Amino acid sequence: MREYKIAAIPADGIGPEVIAAGLQALVALARRDGGFGFDVTSFDWGSDRYKKTGTLMPEDGVEQLKTFDAIFFGAVGAPDVPDHITLWGLRLPICQGFDQYANVRPTRILPGIHSPLEGVGPGDLDWVIVRENSEGEYAGSGGRAHKGLPEEVGTEVAIFTRVGVTRIMRYAFRLAQSRPRKFLTVVTKSNAQRHGMVMWDEIAAEVSEEFPDVSWDKMLVDAMTVRMVKQPQSLDTIVATNLHADILSDLAGALAGSLGVAPTANIDPERRYPSMFEPIHGSAFDITGKGIANPVATFWTAAQMLDHLGEADAAKRLMIAVEQVCADGVMTPDVGGTATTRQVTDAVCEAIRGAN
Ligand code: ATP
Ligand code: MG
Repeated sequence: MREYKIAAIPADGIGPEVIAAGLQALVALARRDGGFGFDVTSFDWGSDRYKKTGTLMPEDGVEQLKTFDAIFFGAVGAPDVPDHITLWGLRLPICQGFDQYANVRPTRILPGIHSPLEGVGPGDLDWVIVRENSEGEYAGSGGRAHKGLPEEVGTEVAIFTRVGVTRIMRYAFRLAQSRPRKFLTVVTKSNAQRHGMVMWDEIAAEVSEEFPDVSWDKMLVDAMTVRMVKQPQSLDTIVATNLHADILSDLAGALAGSLGVAPTANIDPERRYPSMFEPIHGSAFDITGKGIANPVATFWTAAQMLDHLGEADAAKRLMIAVEQVCADGVMTPDVGGTATTRQVTDAVCEAIRGAN
């Protein structure tokens, strides 16, 4: 039997609630399949630890995670801890330490969930957004000169490297190739930004030669927002920079109905290190402890994790169970239902057990 070593980092707010739900579903899948299992180690890192010790995780935290097959992450952030501390104290060191340069965000309208787009339902919107996760606008380059003076200048320099752009482009083309439509949209702003963005366009054209069976097109990011709303059916796989994809994926999440159903994976495609799987939503302290956190995003990212581990059948089975439960109307209040986290989780586990 294959046993996968999973590092669970539930962290803050509703993180522990949704990670517990996700682990329950993983156990149900393993029981049903019999061919694999999980050895889960939980880490109590996060804002509570910060308040007690001054750091969100131990100094050698990233090192401690190195030997795991995957990281299953909840949510980080607390009302009384500044955002940049929680962000830079836990998630980003893991993403950077393990060079998880591909951030992968599938978006689909699940049955029973309403998109704000009129007449758009399941099947009309089925995208995967690939976000460059290691450089670009969030490289941290820049500074401020003449601080506080009338002539003050602040710069925020986007850094794109040939290595960085080529590897994310290859990942995106390969992903597009693995999907039925074999279609990729490359997003830039190369009309206004004449250097790094033009390089993106050029590298896209170069890499496309390696994938003759994938068709692709280019979009400027502003026009892309319009296309996502007006012609969602025309898109499939999408690749964009760190900043552009950050914005586009929030729009995508909203079009798909709720933050509570949006998953993400931070992938090291070369598999040198563990990849990290998490719901997109934050710690949501307004609903923490009420038992109504939507676990669907976490189930979905658990399916991404299974796929990454090579358990594609189990991943498929999990998503079929989730879609069946959504279609049956067993949903939390954020997507218009009345069920609790536990009821949704039990229903999904039941559907897993009952599936053929
Ligand atoms: P962050 O600071 O990381 O953005 P947050 O606490 O602001 O975290 P968000 O993820 O931004 O939380 O979510 C905004 C709101 O959406 C939450 O306050 C909550 O009401 C709702 N929400 C988010 N995720 C879920 C979920 N899984 N289930 C139900 N409601 C959710
Ligand atoms: Mg928020």
